[in-house]
Amino acid sequence: MKWSLRVGRLFGIPLYVHFTFFLFLMWVAAESWRMGGSTGGALVEVLFMCALFGCVVLHELGHALTARRYGIATRDITLLPIGGVARPSPGPPLTFSLPASSCSSPSSPRAFSPSVMPAWKA
Ligand SMILES: [Zn+2]
Repeated sequence: MKWSLRVGRLFGIPLYVHFTFFLFLMWVAAESWRMGGSTGGALVEVLFMCALFGCVVLHELGHALTARRYGIATRDITLLPIGGVARPSPGPPLTFSLPASSCSSPSSPRAFSPSVMPAWKA
């Protein structure tokens, strides 16, 4: 995806962050600082958002690895302020594997959300 920065690779799948995500983090920091006037508070909010979007990466990884199980490669995963996108590589049409891939991911963020919630309440 254009305007994206490659930040790593997970299970052989390139992970990108769109530049608007960085704008989003800057907005979160600015709003937090404006509301509380604390740099530390703004940093905590930004770290919380990064942890939250870590769950989005796990969610997209669930899609990608389930698709791989059915023989469909994933071109890349991109994080956006509105969520993530796991793009399948061009290939045969998704038929049987689409329901499995679609249903596989929703549970992965739930497994990790308890680790994020204490940070939110702090
Ligand atoms: Zn999904």
